[in-house]
Amino acid sequence: MFEKLLVANRGEIAIRVLRAAREMGIGTVAVHSEADRLAPHVRFADEAVEIGPAASAESYLRIDRILEAARRTGADAVHPGYGFLAERADFARAVEEAGLIFVGPAPETIEAMGDKTAARQRMQAAGVPIVPGIVDPAENALAALAAAEEIGFPVLLKAAAGGGGKGMRVVETADALERAFEAARREAVAAFGDGSVYVERYLARPRHIEIQILGDAHGNVVHLGERECSIQRRHQKLVEEAPSAVLDEAGRAAMGIAAVRAAEAVDYRGAGTVEFLWENGEFWFLEMNTRLQVEHPVTELVTGLDLVAWQLRVAAGEPLEFGQADVRMTGHAIECRITAEDPDGGFLPSTGRIEHLRLPEGPGVRWDGAMEVGLDVSLHYDPLLGKLIVHAPDRAAAIARMARALREFELVGPDHAAAFHRRVMANDAFAAGDLSIRFVDEHPALTESAPAESTVARAGATAAVLLEEARRERRTAPRLSSAGGVELGPWRSLGHPAGTSAP
Ligand code: ADP
Repeated sequence: MFEKLLVANRGEIAIRVLRAAREMGIGTVAVHSEADRLAPHVRFADEAVEIGPAASAESYLRIDRILEAARRTGADAVHPGYGFLAERADFARAVEEAGLIFVGPAPETIEAMGDKTAARQRMQAAGVPIVPGIVDPAENALAALAAAEEIGFPVLLKAAAGGGGKGMRVVETADALERAFEAARREAVAAFGDGSVYVERYLARPRHIEIQILGDAHGNVVHLGERECSIQRRHQKLVEEAPSAVLDEAGRAAMGIAAVRAAEAVDYRGAGTVEFLWENGEFWFLEMNTRLQVEHPVTELVTGLDLVAWQLRVAAGEPLEFGQADVRMTGHAIECRITAEDPDGGFLPSTGRIEHLRLPEGPGVRWDGAMEVGLDVSLHYDPLLGKLIVHAPDRAAAIARMARALREFELVGPDHAAAFHRRVMANDAFAAGDLSIRFVDEHPALTESAPAESTVARAGATAAVLLEEARRERRTAPRLSSAGGVELGPWRSLGHPAGTSAP
């Protein structure tokens, strides 16, 4: 095992990785921007190095500065987390060329899966079903139109270099295609510096189901079952669960075999995810993410495996100690992403200082976050504040547990997604497992607060902030003698603290 790990990331994922390294007795180095000097992840590491100004392009995306930090601190391995440089083959290569271990797959693997058309070709050759469509970029709008007519409308135009839902356009009819093609191409050039666009069938009401895989450097690959991530907004996942309500043993095995085949086709090493769209019992390869994913904890809870620990062991050259038959899934896990986005305002990002925070506790509850009172949430970075994850014996119990945990959750500061998640947990179609990637659009009430709800939320929030202020005052102000009976100060009129819990 290597001795010192540098984590090239921030926020909850940096903390997640730093925690695993600590448990394994590995030394840790955090990197941070100027704006993140006091960020929580900095305190979770043995050492920290400042790598530049707030803007990611000047800090978390600066390969040279990250490698310099590794050199200065004597780190011998680098974990990229997710986002930022995690799927950049040039970063993986630069880390290896500097004589360090990159915790992730080989640069060639990242490259092979980073281009969606190249990945589709690889998967087709490996016998993995892909979403029907072309496997080369369309040369121009005319070629895209010909492809679309063969595939059948509606179609989806996608940027080959795409990610984060950018450069994607649904096209319903032939006359709308040319404009959409040019728009997708422009967006792809702006976002990725590569305007290649291809065409695939737009599935009507699919579910997003993905398979977690784990491979070592000795040719062993296992899959750790599926996660369903159909609850999305603008192609971004909001709620994830394991297992999927719709897969039986046979369906899981079929998808698992396809995912292992996909991984083997690119000599996969480390933790990765093969994403599929599923409809009426059929499934098609969507893409492979060559990194740890945000939603990995649901898999950890049902399999009992620590995915980050395995990433580190595999990166150090250790073989997987178990085979496919040893992987068991127990119970049901759900994750809700708590983002600083306003669910009732089109999920627009929100900023501000965290004034009050109370995290859920109790049986079966896990919080992976990077939040504390006083922290400023800015627009510089990803809006993900933390993830609330629960584990219970079955799906119904997991939903009830998540609903309970969300009731305990209190956050006053930027707008955030908790109210949305409460509504999802109370939704009948969700309880019935009737999901598709259109779920949020099909249930508009999820993104519109009832008038009463917002009034209660505001009242609760105001009370929570007043309480927090009173607590601070009590800690700093000199206490008067209890004989005077005045030491409780201004918050007495608010009544019992339990009355402040947000709805
Ligand atoms: P990105 O890499 O930009 O995230 P993906 O290819 O992973 O793009 O797709 C993101 C999401 O877009 C999927 O989870 C799904 O909701 C939707 N999507 C992608 N391809 C299709 C398709 N062919 N038909 C319908 N929806 C799709």
